[in-house]
Amino acid sequence: MAIHKKELEVAALENGTVIDHIPSNQLFKVVSLLGLEHLNKSITIGNNLISKKIGHKGIIKIADTFFKEEEINKIALIAPNAKINIIRDYQVTEKRVVTLPDELTGIIRCNNPKCITNNEPMNTVFRVINKETVEVKCKYCERAISQKDIEIR
Ligand SMILES: [Zn+2]
Repeated sequence: MAIHKKELEVAALENGTVIDHIPSNQLFKVVSLLGLEHLNKSITIGNNLISKKIGHKGIIKIADTFFKEEEINKIALIAPNAKINIIRDYQVTEKRVVTLPDELTGIIRCNNPKCITNNEPMNTVFRVINKETVEVKCKYCERAISQKDIEIR
C-alpha cells in the first residue's frame, strides 16, 4: 500500500488552519507564540520535513481554529516565510502570507536590563523599523534589536 507523502502531510483536516514552511528550529517557538499548548483542539505537528525552499521545515495543523490576522502576523518575527492555509470542508479556501505589523505589543522582551519594561509590570512595545531584515526598536528605551537577538516573552 503506497501512501503518497504529500497526502500524509495535508491529511484529513476538515476545518482549521495549517501553518506551513516554518523553519524546523523555530517550530516550537511558533507553538508557544500562538499559545497552542493551552488550546483544547486537535493539533498535528510535523517537523524536520524536507523542503526544497528552506531545507528542513515544520508544519502545524490546528483543527477548528481560525486565527485573527494580528495573531498570525506575530509568526513573521520568527518564521517570515510561513504560509497559512485556511481549510474548510477539507478544501483550502484561503492562503495567506504572514506580514510583520508596524508595532508589536507584549511579544518581545527588551534586552536592555535598565529598560522600564524590565522593571515595571507592563507590556513592551516595539516598532518594526525594518520588515525585510526584521529589526525592531523598543519604544521606551530606543534599543534596537535584530532578528537573531529577538527574545519572545
Ligand atoms: Zn527597552
